[in-house]
Amino acid sequence: MDVVGVAEPNAPGPGEVLVGPEAVGLCGSDFHYFLGDIGTIDDPSTLYPRIQGHEAAATVLDVGPDCPAELAVGTRVALWPVSSCGRCSACRVGRGNACVNISLIGVHEDGALQQQLLVPAAQVFPVGDQDPALAALIEPVSIAVRAVVRGRVAAGERVVVLGAGPIGQALALAATDRDASVLLVDTLASRLARGGVMGADVLEVGADDDLGAAVREWAGAEGPEVVIEATGVPALVQRSVELVAHAGRVVVVGLSADHAPVRVGDLPLKEIDVLGVSCCVADEFAAAVELVGRRRDAAAGLVTHEFALEQAPEAIAYAIAHPAEVMKAVVRLDAA
Ligand SMILES: [Zn+2]
Ligand SMILES: [Zn+2]
Repeated sequence: MDVVGVAEPNAPGPGEVLVGPEAVGLCGSDFHYFLGDIGTIDDPSTLYPRIQGHEAAATVLDVGPDCPAELAVGTRVALWPVSSCGRCSACRVGRGNACVNISLIGVHEDGALQQQLLVPAAQVFPVGDQDPALAALIEPVSIAVRAVVRGRVAAGERVVVLGAGPIGQALALAATDRDASVLLVDTLASRLARGGVMGADVLEVGADDDLGAAVREWAGAEGPEVVIEATGVPALVQRSVELVAHAGRVVVVGLSADHAPVRVGDLPLKEIDVLGVSCCVADEFAAAVELVGRRRDAAAGLVTHEFALEQAPEAIAYAIAHPAEVMKAVVRLDAA
């Protein structure tokens, strides 16, 4: 990763907004992308070079014709990274977040780790008085909102979240916000320390511990109604199918290019739903704006490290090298 000069964008056209990114979160998918570990994408060579950054808070710098009046110059916004083709089978059923031709800011097109960026107005959400580092958390929280919607998480249900990284923390926030009971599971005690702030119970597991016994102790002998896999460790998809209660839901959020064997009979005999989650739809992004604003005290604690734009290469290397220490690293472009 290098810091280089680029040409200034054109003035915004109809339906376009020019934004100035202020704070950009780095996430696990950025690490994979940076390391070239994107095995689920058919031809990765088409993706580089790339300006990364898909978890962005920004200010509106200029507004093109035909944009909503709420997008005035100076408005602080969060960027919904998803644009979709509107024609494929996923789009036709209102699930553009799973579009076969999806284009994500910072992945398939240049992202927010730059001082100016042109984006469609439909991908720009005002965030009121949220500060930039907080608003940069809206995108990861939006994935958690999608996950609890897909998993139909309901009040009183028991939800086990595997992985207490930023997405796991956001899942705890989104699920407890629906008045579910949440058990957040990780191998790193440092990552679990914030679970209580999110309203979750926590479980630290070592390699030799019996995860199934510990989960049943928490959830009862029948197991939890919902298990959400947020580590990307293939074996834990298999474990999730084993752990979940009959008629329950397994929600897979973690990414991996590897395979996981599941006991096929568990699917029909337990009649479980196994649900994938990719990004979110616009309504869910709006729900994440609201959730982060309302629970800002809990959410703000997730940002553990801040770096200036010039330090972005160090920031990504540092975050990759220190998983126990870094919860969410944010690159600040608004620092003087
Ligand atoms: Zn992300
Ligand atoms: Zn589509």
